[in-house]
Amino acid sequence: RAKCEGIGAPCYYDGALDEAIRERRELANDLRKAIDENQLEVYYQVQASVADRAVTGYEALLRWTHPQRGMVLPSVFIPVAEENGLILSLGEWVLQRACADAVEWEHPSKVAVNVSALQLAHAELPQVFQRILADTGLPAERLEIELTESAIMANRERALQVLGQIKALGVGVALDDFGTGYSSLETLRAFPFDKIKLDRFFTSELAVSPQATAIVRAVLALGRSLAIPVLAEGIETREQLDVLVREGCDEVQGFLFGRPRPMPLGGIELDDGAPMSDAA
Ligand code: C2E
Ligand code: MG
Ligand code: MG
Ligand code: MG
Repeated sequence: RAKCEGIGAPCYYDGALDEAIRERRELANDLRKAIDENQLEVYYQVQASVADRAVTGYEALLRWTHPQRGMVLPSVFIPVAEENGLILSLGEWVLQRACADAVEWEHPSKVAVNVSALQLAHAELPQVFQRILADTGLPAERLEIELTESAIMANRERALQVLGQIKALGVGVALDDFGTGYSSLETLRAFPFDKIKLDRFFTSELAVSPQATAIVRAVLALGRSLAIPVLAEGIETREQLDVLVREGCDEVQGFLFGRPRPMPLGGIELDDGAPMSDAA
């Protein structure tokens, strides 16, 4: 029932918008307290290589247990944190937590941490990485950051410069959600990514759409030509896995191999029955 009759005309709301704004403001205030009040946790989701069925790393995924709302997902609170700059302290907290956790793991797997546009635009980011690596004692080679194309495109020149500095520390850089955003091949040329993460949209379409299979095949060929390994996200079924293995996908991640969960001592194994060896 919102009525905006034209430029300059007064707007009348039915209150739904006000409510949404109020809700976001409240969430932002609560989020501000969440770090200090220990409401945040880092969950980990296993990543594995297709060739030898070995765990290669774990993606760190933020979880927030709100005192009243219960579990709030990152798709809800990360945009709020990006909007008001809170993502800077939140991002630093996750990085610190993930690096400190990874040092304790039994196996020296990689840990992959998502980094958002605003963090990337922050001039101090390479120093933050350097400090946290030094504080936790995690070898830089075990850390990987995941960035979306939109995060890079938000300030491309700056992003490429910061990424260069982070890579110079020895930290790996993965291109997240590939294929759904800008998908600029120029970004692949301009920056030496260590991994391409194919968005789970394509994985989900694999069994039903021949076009999706064609696109996946093309991205895998692109990765091979550029010598960048490709990881497919969001694998949920055996059928999806079979297509990906047949097409030569390098690494996999998804509910089929394990959901994101708190890291127990000794690390998370591939879920029982996750069928890769016989498909490879
Ligand atoms: P992402 O980086 O692309 O992470 C993968 C998302 O896909 C995760 O959602 C994961 O739980 C989900 N996923 C993994 N396997 C499957 C599957 O087989 N099926 C389905 N349906 N989903 C699967 P999550 O944890 O809700 O995170 C959503 C997004 O929030 C992430 O997407 C990332 O962009 C952002 N995010 C999460 N943690 C952080 C963080 O610490 N910092 C920043 N900047 N962003 C984060
Ligand atoms: Mg990611
Ligand atoms: Mg992703
Ligand atoms: Mg995503």
